[in-house]
Amino acid sequence: MPEKQHPTLEELRNIFDLQLESSLKWRQSTAADRIKKLETIRKWIFKNQKRIKSALYEDFKKPFPETELSEIFPITIEINHAIKNLKHWMKPKKVDSSLSMLGTKGKIYFEPKGASLIISPWNYPFNLAIGPLVSALAAGCPVILKPSELTPHTSGLIENMIDELFDKSEVAVIQGGVEVSQRLLELPFDHIFFTGSPAVGKKIMEAASKNLSSVTLELGGKSPTIVHNTADIKDAAEKIVSGKFLNCGQTCIAPDYLLVHEEVKEHFMMELKVAIKKMYDPEMKGLEHSEDLARIINLKNYQRLLTLLNDAKNKGAKIEFGGKSDPETLYIEPTLVGDLNDSMTILDEEIFGPILPILTYKKLEKAISLINSKPKPLALYYFGKDDEAYKEVLHQTSSGNVMLNDCVLHFLHPNLPFGGVNNSGIGKSHGYFGYLAFSNEKGVLKQRVGLNNSTLIKPPYDLKTKKII
Ligand code: NAD
Repeated sequence: MPEKQHPTLEELRNIFDLQLESSLKWRQSTAADRIKKLETIRKWIFKNQKRIKSALYEDFKKPFPETELSEIFPITIEINHAIKNLKHWMKPKKVDSSLSMLGTKGKIYFEPKGASLIISPWNYPFNLAIGPLVSALAAGCPVILKPSELTPHTSGLIENMIDELFDKSEVAVIQGGVEVSQRLLELPFDHIFFTGSPAVGKKIMEAASKNLSSVTLELGGKSPTIVHNTADIKDAAEKIVSGKFLNCGQTCIAPDYLLVHEEVKEHFMMELKVAIKKMYDPEMKGLEHSEDLARIINLKNYQRLLTLLNDAKNKGAKIEFGGKSDPETLYIEPTLVGDLNDSMTILDEEIFGPILPILTYKKLEKAISLINSKPKPLALYYFGKDDEAYKEVLHQTSSGNVMLNDCVLHFLHPNLPFGGVNNSGIGKSHGYFGYLAFSNEKGVLKQRVGLNNSTLIKPPYDLKTKKII
């Protein structure tokens, strides 16, 4: 792909100024105005599905059905949900009065925050760029969108789409890497929505603090998965395999490591292996020929993953399944790793690839305390039929989301907040929560006939005679 000249700060500032100006107009936009914009995106996506699939295939051999399921379908849900509910979301919400506020009327108005910046990652390059854009447009904010430089085909297609559908004063795509991102971060955006790693998330927050821009940070981390001795073992194994190896493990909410009850470990390992073969190598041609498994995004990440694996092997870990790799095709086999210990980096760093470490536990409290010894994860999964044990896990751990007896699927629920906590993120996205991320909830109080501030808080403060408390 030909190298594109990156815009200067001056050029970026010009686009930003245009958007700042248009944000004033957008404040008065109706639900119908915003829905019209969402509909144009939906129409474009339907018409260009093949192009989207080809771009992702070019970028990292993402299988067409996976693109349909994990890039196009979630965006369709997000758009349809916003279109259906936007009028209701935008309606000012009445609040009850307290005794001291009797006679007044309080309402929450949802005002668009204004000129917004979206910075998105490479792993679901279409979904994670367009998802937040849908929320921003629903909330009435103009957007500068910087997609990932690591997926040039998809980012190029996103730029084509936006150029076709929007004026730069509404939505503009700026392509480029770290340098361009940093240049953009110098501008005083009203809101910054970032999806990426915790390390870069900290830099985004630092840059945002210079302008006191509000932030939503959708970050990553190590999502633990507990398989209790009451779980349906075959079912758990199949769901974990499909959640873990989707996108070749390059999913922020993929199970990062497993905690399996000792009593069921043997049975579970057997079912895991069966499930991998059944899903990715049904004709037994060798997993490396699988067209249903995406490849690693680039050589740097390929090497990072092998370094993690070799570090574990050198410190005594056992490869229970897989372990093959090929730098030419950026292939890493779905790999199960056992016999782990604390000194291994694979138990500290987010894996973000098709390698699955498996730990065991005898007592649930041990599993819980291991989870609590690490930064709070983006998601936590529990497989088991024991309600008491599930509640123990739910109430004694902290994570962005929790899913019981399945994994990854919660991403698609339009009515649940999606996001992390502390190290795995700040703020929420999806549906109404995405709309809120780009909205200022403005509290408005109207005085009518009640106590007013001249009776209540006007000096002289003769509390003895007025006895108001
Ligand atoms: P990344 O943090 O390296 O990059 C994300 C974006 O930030 C890219 O557009 C990149 O150009 C930009 N960027 C990189 N360094 C920067 C810097 N120093 N200053 C300003 N901008 C910079 O993340 P990635 O490798 O693209 O994605 C993988 C990470 O994203 C993983 O940690 C994963 O868990 C996380 N993730 C989180 C979610 C979520 O919804 N919470 C979703 C997908 C991925």
